[in-house]
Amino acid sequence: MGKGQTALEVALEQLEIAAEKLKLEREIHEMLKYPKRSLSVSITIKMDNGCPCVFNGCRVQHWDARGPFKGGIRYHPNVTIDEVTALAMWMTWKCAVVDIPYGGAKGGVCCNPKIMSKGELERLTRRYTSLLLDYIGPYRDVPAPDVYTDAQTMAWIMDTYSQFKGYSVPECVTGKPISVGGSEGREEATSRGVVICAREAAKTLDIKLKDATVAVQGYGNVGWNAAKISYDMGCKIVAVSDSAGGIYCPKGLNPYKVFEHKSKTGSVINYEGCENITNEDLLETKCDILIPAALENQITKTNVNKIKAKIVAEGANGPTTPEADRALFEKGTLLVPDILANSGGVTASYFEWVQNLTREHWALEDVNRKLESKIVKAFNDVNKLAKKEKSDMRTAALILGVGRVADAIRILGLWP
Ligand code: NAD
Repeated sequence: MGKGQTALEVALEQLEIAAEKLKLEREIHEMLKYPKRSLSVSITIKMDNGCPCVFNGCRVQHWDARGPFKGGIRYHPNVTIDEVTALAMWMTWKCAVVDIPYGGAKGGVCCNPKIMSKGELERLTRRYTSLLLDYIGPYRDVPAPDVYTDAQTMAWIMDTYSQFKGYSVPECVTGKPISVGGSEGREEATSRGVVICAREAAKTLDIKLKDATVAVQGYGNVGWNAAKISYDMGCKIVAVSDSAGGIYCPKGLNPYKVFEHKSKTGSVINYEGCENITNEDLLETKCDILIPAALENQITKTNVNKIKAKIVAEGANGPTTPEADRALFEKGTLLVPDILANSGGVTASYFEWVQNLTREHWALEDVNRKLESKIVKAFNDVNKLAKKEKSDMRTAALILGVGRVADAIRILGLWP
């Protein structure tokens, strides 16, 4: 984050801004600063060489005044409970902004999935699930994928949970494979939401999506799908990157071919006809739309003045620091904040949960139509509020999200 600022400090500063604008009661502000529950777990598994190894994990449940906790699980070597707490808090606001009946949670395991075998990851996931068993579930807390976890991880969670219950409980987790109750369109939904937001933002600036130039940081689930969907909508993808570095091609690249190249070589770099660039260069690429879709702490006071994009649509959670936010607003860059821009993922997760609870399976067109309508409504709500408040879209989204959660807390009252 900006010098020494952690994700949690950023999240708390954002809450402070919203609390001030909302003139929030001191006690509600105080309640929202802390998660309702934070679980730390030690996950011991046998590695392939027969030796046991201990991994630290956690699940943080921020607030559930509007519905069950909901949030992804991240496997990453730098996971800390503070980072997961910030991510859980952002989930609370996100679900409220897009108006779905969930609270916010997040989970993480400190590990390096890139050097672990599939068997080790399966044992890790199942043991982690067994440790969370009393705290997750369809009406308590519903996990989903995040960085370096995927549909397979969710299938292992569902199976472990179901084995303990003695019957199949597909609604205990979302982002599952379709064959075990996953939803059509879920895998792409986060990115579809990001691109819908970028499209709506482009309309407000009179930028035509056809041939608009796009740079995408991160080529995992969110980044690759965002590149693909914007390319399919007629945009020109000029730069993409992953943890190994980036590639730049002013004429425009074909994201499908880059995906094939990454599948074969492990990275987007060294793709024929493109210039290799660093991740710093990628963020500073001359383009209409920049989609950060990797990790936190990417646009900071150090590089904000070099950002040339007219629109920044945050696919990742927390890629921009508050200082950078202010600087972007001042220079007229339209930033669509994470809690709005990437809310398509949790929205489609909500659709998956509803389908599981009602034992239905909706067609892809139905999922995408409902998604479009939810995201466009949320975008318009935030945009209108930003105009009224004369603020940037992040502040408006925070006012909307925090305000809705505070309303629910007031109505429920404080028990006992
Ligand atoms: P992923 O694991 O599928 O992909 C992460 C990508 O980021 C990979 O391509 C990786 O190489 C790249 N990366 C890692 N470190 C990097 C670095 N330092 N510089 C550039 N690239 C780097 O993860 P994902 O699911 O695509 O999630 C990406 C972001 O989107 C995260 O912030 C996540 O919290 C957020 N998000 C994901 C979802 C979802 O549905 N998956 C929903 C909402 C938000």
